[in-house]
Amino acid sequence: MAEVRVAKSAGFCYGVERAVKLAEETAREKGGCAMLGSIIHNVHVVAELEALGARQVDSVEEVRPGETVIIRSHGEGRAVYDQLRARGVEILDATCPNVTRIHQIVAQAEQAGRQPVIVGTPDHPEVTAIAGWCSHPVVVSGAEELEKWLVQDEKRRNLPLTFVSQTTSTRKIWDDCVKKAKKECTNAEFFDTICGATSKRQEEAHRLAQQCSLMVVIGDGKSSNTKRLAEICKEVCPDVRLIERAADLEPSALSQANVVGITAGASTPAWIIKEVYDKMSEENM
Ligand code: SF4
Repeated sequence: MAEVRVAKSAGFCYGVERAVKLAEETAREKGGCAMLGSIIHNVHVVAELEALGARQVDSVEEVRPGETVIIRSHGEGRAVYDQLRARGVEILDATCPNVTRIHQIVAQAEQAGRQPVIVGTPDHPEVTAIAGWCSHPVVVSGAEELEKWLVQDEKRRNLPLTFVSQTTSTRKIWDDCVKKAKKECTNAEFFDTICGATSKRQEEAHRLAQQCSLMVVIGDGKSSNTKRLAEICKEVCPDVRLIERAADLEPSALSQANVVGITAGASTPAWIIKEVYDKMSEENM
């Protein structure tokens, strides 16, 4: 009989939990609301919110005047807030405090005459929102791109540069950029804005996977964070299954395992983790 262990950090991070809760409460109290962009990468949670009357809109133009709109944990650029105010809508801001801090850092850096450099995936919504708090942002996906940007103009090495990171960037990407900038730039400052919740989840998954012959990672297969979590587990565990719901788990999965670990991405609610745990426990009997 296999022992099933669940990682303590599995599931919602506090930023996502806060945004989902705000959407739920607002939809209940007001009989509906709009969520700007995808509030969470989980179709099951989105369906639950829609059933309560929280509808997803993909642009400011789709928000109806007088409607209440929720800003997701990734945040939005300054212009989006201005556009929403101009439409006369009520804004409920669920931007994660970790992300708001980055907005403040880049905005203050520009005010002080510095050049913000955002280390992250250029088209990720969190990164485009951070860039939306700068008038002339520079976004680099890693040290190689930083190098390309620096060599384009010799003067850039002497600019006052302020580096921030996308909250879900890996430690290696950030450290490589810091190393390069420290070596080549004369006036750079660094704000390590990688989210502690993400690194804690990854470290814990790695530790747990080392002790397991089967590791189950629950989350949306399209989410880069969930895929990263599975990759980390694969480094130390011979059998890693990435699933969205309990039904995706093959009944035979447990038969060869003696210790099974469960972890889950930041967009997985507690009820899905329980569903998987219960199914495993049943099959295990
Ligand atoms: Fe906030 Fe971290 Fe969650 Fe992003 S991953 S929403 S920064 S707690």
